[in-house]
Amino acid sequence: MMNSGNRNLDPKDWYETRVLGHRMLDEAFDHLANLRNGRVWTPMPTEIRAQMQGPIPEKGTELADVYADFRRLVVPYSLGNTHPRFMGWVHGGGTVVGMLAELLSASLNNNLGGRDHAAIEVEREVIRWTAEMMGFPSDASGVLVTGTSIANLIAVLVARTAVLGPSVRERGLAGARLVAYASTAAHNCVSRAIDMVGLGSSALRLIATDAEGKMDLTILERQFSADRQSGCIPFLIVGTAGTVDTGAIDDLDALARLSRREKIWFHIDGAFGALCVLSPHLKPLVFGIERADSIALDFHKWAQVQYDAGLVLVRDGAAHAATFASPAAYLAREVRGLAAGHPWPVDFGPDLSRGFRALKVWMTLKTYGTERLGEVIEDSCKLARRMARRVETESELELLAPVALNIVCFRFKAGPEHELDLLNREIVADLQENGIAVPSTTVLDGKLAIRAALINHRVSWDDLKALVEGVLSFGRRRATAPG
Ligand SMILES: *Cc1c(COP(=O)(O)O)cnc(C)c1O
Repeated sequence: MMNSGNRNLDPKDWYETRVLGHRMLDEAFDHLANLRNGRVWTPMPTEIRAQMQGPIPEKGTELADVYADFRRLVVPYSLGNTHPRFMGWVHGGGTVVGMLAELLSASLNNNLGGRDHAAIEVEREVIRWTAEMMGFPSDASGVLVTGTSIANLIAVLVARTAVLGPSVRERGLAGARLVAYASTAAHNCVSRAIDMVGLGSSALRLIATDAEGKMDLTILERQFSADRQSGCIPFLIVGTAGTVDTGAIDDLDALARLSRREKIWFHIDGAFGALCVLSPHLKPLVFGIERADSIALDFHKWAQVQYDAGLVLVRDGAAHAATFASPAAYLAREVRGLAAGHPWPVDFGPDLSRGFRALKVWMTLKTYGTERLGEVIEDSCKLARRMARRVETESELELLAPVALNIVCFRFKAGPEHELDLLNREIVADLQENGIAVPSTTVLDGKLAIRAALINHRVSWDDLKALVEGVLSFGRRRATAPG
């Protein structure tokens, strides 16, 4: 079985594995090319779920059989976010380019914690490009991370070090009463980040929003004064470019001015909205983004890169490194050899071992170009506006928030008010379970909303019509059903 005592894990028969690999690739292409003909999502039947649960495989199985399990147990019941009628939460659709890039990066299996090699240069290039897109200086620092949740966490840590000095890394917070600000519409990962750095989530002041969903600056200023008077140290304002509920964008320029005046770190959660900079028409909406101290954003949402790919960008690279760089003999830097190339990504975040996420971002940006990606982003906003108009013309539907960007929140309203939350929740589950479309829900002003976030580049007007018609037909059926 083993050739000359070599127990390595490479194929015994390269040719056979290669043929199987080509089949996998062909079937992956088929899957993507035929998405539209299939259901968006299928609930995983109990029997299938049970089949997933077996003993630890002590003896190996042929790869072809393992792949057959993947086709049978995983593919039919997967999330469905590649499908054009997946509009739930804020999910990107991915592309063939990203899929191939994942394969290529896996073939190199590089570790991007550090050292002097080409993959790190690819990541640096992606960071430089992003800095340029955002109007940041070319020497801004950054690091690719899983997503905006971690990017926000990193930014909170950098802001903490900037206000308390690098000695906070040894001393700890030592009772410093730091407080941060974000709007009530900010993503809850901001509050989790404040919790995770040890401040307690109550140190995040949630500022009310105005009718457009933007942070109310008068209330913000009042809260500053109150906090300063009570001995707290305001250290961070988090503006949101594209709230997760409605796509609202805070007045970033005003927040930049305010934070500069108050000498407070200004971070922007731009998970998807920051990429408005790629469209000349949408860019004015995020005016002021170029004045932030740091930005968190995702490539796996509106830039259509495969999961996962987030980025934190920091204007002052020294402040960024001062938060994470830490000497260790086994990570010593040299001026030559593979241990050269200082600084390393490990100096800019918590991860040491890290994959080659940068390749799929680099290949996506190079293959499509920022103009084309900007057009995709713009198209989803146009479709959202058209959808809002359609909702407004249907007497049984009601728009629940202004469409600032690419998110449409609405509900079926033909029924008694006290039953509408339940009715709309059921409509969403009906649409999902029947494989027709996947919107998600949220609550706006106490009302349950059906939420369609148009992120996926594959979405078309026909898909939105199918969503509206589905809502109407399930809504009518349920509203007239007895009991
Ligand atoms: C998606 C999202 C996040 C969280 O990002 P992840 O990539 O899921 O970690 C944070 N903020 C906003 C506005 C988002 O849309």
